[in-house]
Amino acid sequence: MPAAMRLVTVGSVALDTLSTPHGKRVRIIGGAATHASVAASFFVDRPGIVGVVGSDFPAAYRRLLLSRGVDLEGLSVAEGKTFHWKGSYEGDMGVARTLSTELGVFASFDPQVPLAWRKAPFLFLANIEPGIQERVLDQMTRPRFSLLDTMNLWIATRRQALLKVIRRVDAVVLNDQEIRQLTGEHSLIKAAMACLRLGPKLVFLKRGEHGASLVGAREFFHLPAFPTAAVLDPTGAGDSFAGGLMGWLAGKGKTEPKDLRAAMAAGVVLSSFQVEGFSLERTLRLKPAQISARLKTLRAMTRF
Ligand code: AMP
Repeated sequence: MPAAMRLVTVGSVALDTLSTPHGKRVRIIGGAATHASVAASFFVDRPGIVGVVGSDFPAAYRRLLLSRGVDLEGLSVAEGKTFHWKGSYEGDMGVARTLSTELGVFASFDPQVPLAWRKAPFLFLANIEPGIQERVLDQMTRPRFSLLDTMNLWIATRRQALLKVIRRVDAVVLNDQEIRQLTGEHSLIKAAMACLRLGPKLVFLKRGEHGASLVGAREFFHLPAFPTAAVLDPTGAGDSFAGGLMGWLAGKGKTEPKDLRAAMAAGVVLSSFQVEGFSLERTLRLKPAQISARLKTLRAMTRF
């Protein structure tokens, strides 16, 4: 019998068309749940994805996810087109510009969490329409730790639905722009405090090349980004940060403050590899020893 499911992730499973100053890719594998689950797979066995793809989703991409041990029992296939995101990055690639978002089969998706997954202790509501996130949360039996991600599109167009689900999770993960847009506060610390008043106990702030911070009512922790000079495509950096973090916690089965800090380091390291290739090109070649080596360097870099 397979071991019990420990980490469930709902979010987009996508085809991405991307351009960065370093190249272009058309309809390659992407999606928030994809990048998060692959990152998590380095720390926890058989992370599960709840999502939907269309009949155009290549079998080779399915095999790719399976090769990392990602459990696809919760990934349905519907008649129609896979979610397709077109994005571009310019200059320092700090900000993704969305050229188009085609929801495809996500527009009418009614998520069904496999029965055997509903008691999973860790839940990641990765980026997707907040109503879908909430329906997945509704089907879970009290996860021990739930984390929510979102993006500017949903903050602008589905604000009330988003606030409703944010109230119910333990933690959120947002970048500078998103937290400012959500709270109306410019100072990141004020914005994080305002975010805590919306319900969650913890806020993970993604700050790109400046690293990541953790803010709680009585805690603050910051890690720099792992210094990599070889950034080719930032797509999935945020998802692999959150996926690495959740995979680490789910693998250890602990959420004490020191575990949250170690989990952030795992997220920082996974996202540093993620950006060194387009889509999953770099992350799929990753060896556990390379992760350990960067964790060790990051630890040495931040000790004083
Ligand atoms: P990030 O970690 O922020 O770079 O996330 C990149 C991924 O988000 C891409 O692979 C996209 O497929 C996915 N994405 C883009 N827009 C949306 C959206 N509106 N909802 C869900 N996922 C999205």
